Amino acid sequence: RSFGQERENSAGVNLTDPDELAPLAESMEKAMEQRWEARALIGGKIHGGGKEVRAVDPSDNRRSPGVYYEPEESAIREAIGVAHKAQPEWDATPAAERAAILRKAADLYEEHMGELMALCSREAGKTIPDGVAEVREAVDFLRYYANQCEEKFGAEIPLPGPTGEKNTLRLTGKGVFVCISPWNFPLAIFTGQVTAALAAGNAVLAKPAEQTSLIGSLAVKLLHKAGIPGEVLNFLPSRGSTIGKVVTPDERIIGVAFTGSTETAHVVNQTLAQRKGVIPTLIAETGGQNAMLVDSSALPEQVADDVVQSAFHSAGQRCSALRVLFLQEEIAPRVLEILSGYMDTLIVGDPALLRTDIGPVIDDKAYKGLKEHVEWVKTQGKLIKEAPLSAECANGTFLAPVAVEIDDISLLEREQFGPVLHVVRYKAKDLDKVIDSINKTGYGLTLGIHTRIDSEADYIQRRIKVGNAYVNRNMVGAVVGVQPFGGQGLSGTGPKAGGPHYMLRFANERTLTINT
Ligand code: GLU
Repeated sequence: RSFGQERENSAGVNLTDPDELAPLAESMEKAMEQRWEARALIGGKIHGGGKEVRAVDPSDNRRSPGVYYEPEESAIREAIGVAHKAQPEWDATPAAERAAILRKAADLYEEHMGELMALCSREAGKTIPDGVAEVREAVDFLRYYANQCEEKFGAEIPLPGPTGEKNTLRLTGKGVFVCISPWNFPLAIFTGQVTAALAAGNAVLAKPAEQTSLIGSLAVKLLHKAGIPGEVLNFLPSRGSTIGKVVTPDERIIGVAFTGSTETAHVVNQTLAQRKGVIPTLIAETGGQNAMLVDSSALPEQVADDVVQSAFHSAGQRCSALRVLFLQEEIAPRVLEILSGYMDTLIVGDPALLRTDIGPVIDDKAYKGLKEHVEWVKTQGKLIKEAPLSAECANGTFLAPVAVEIDDISLLEREQFGPVLHVVRYKAKDLDKVIDSINKTGYGLTLGIHTRIDSEADYIQRRIKVGNAYVNRNMVGAVVGVQPFGGQGLSGTGPKAGGPHYMLRFANERTLTINT
């Protein structure tokens, strides 16, 4: 089987078909009324203690989808021991069996789509189309890594050998990984990290983002139901600082898969570097300062549409999102006119309503940081447009999508993780300077290019150092197995999620030579 040649992605839901939508809406509504609870799951058992924390609905802070319990340090230490003990047996389980469990989990995720989407809405403020995409991506990861598991871990790889000698290469798990996942893809990235580590033969301590512990808990329950042993997959709805204090310094942890900010990745890296003994593995996917370049041959309507999707949809809370739009001066007035008109029509509001384009940002801290940046950047440049907010936004952390023209990307010191677009005009003769200025940020995640001149697209994409470049389309929503996703430089260590090399980083390689 080889994923990639033949597409095997989840079908998702056709939201324009009432027959498909009605049952989904019904199960979502039911799940939204439910009060959810998440507790640590250690060795397959629910951990009784811990500190109660109320989950907050970002679209209406008065509302709460439920509570979770942060486990005590002693429980976390117990989980490390349990996972460490269980890993060898799991590693010895045939790859086909591990793959079958992941495929079963994919089916279970699809069956529970309504609940998963309801939590994505209530806990992470995801719109309905984003919720569908989230579940689809998680399902894709499950099936993709199941295939990769069989393909790469299922049999020894034969190697050449002189007469009388048999050489083979075999991949096995490394030990216990801690997977630290972000709130912006609380199901997809969470599932991708955890299941790649598991499929490779590792045991896992799964740590969801604090803001999305309830989704993480439901995902782990479904993975257990599919057949992943409880000892092998432990769930810790802890704070990042607790994990940093108790888990990452522990020598029984062989590696960390982390998705989040570049600053936190540095902290994790430093903690790991202070350990004695085995040098652990760090897989980090971090931020970006992603640019799109538009030359004067581009189609302005298409550009405006792709900019809205890349910069504002998902409230700009994707690490792939567009942050700085470079417009060649001849085309800039037309693109900005269409973009402004488009922004006026965006519906920012209740993510649970199908008509909503853009939901809230994740929490008050994110909102305040973004708001402060917007006020500051307005004083540094020229406001192009601030989209209107509906009355539904009164009690949530909604930020109006905003576009501001600035002189240069170097004005921006850090990534702004929200619906904030910076626009820079450039002259054709300055293209190389623009390319340099983008590379100078040090980030290297995504890049968009709009041009009708193939050689121009080629010139730009070869010179800007990024992991994912997109020509004449939006620059978000990488599809598992189709657009393996991940960056370089300040944007991450690689390997790419949803790509053929990802699971190798979670594996040991063993060469066996037999004198026959
Ligand atoms: N894979 C997502 C995309 O292509 C982004 C992942 C992230 O934000 O971490 O849009």
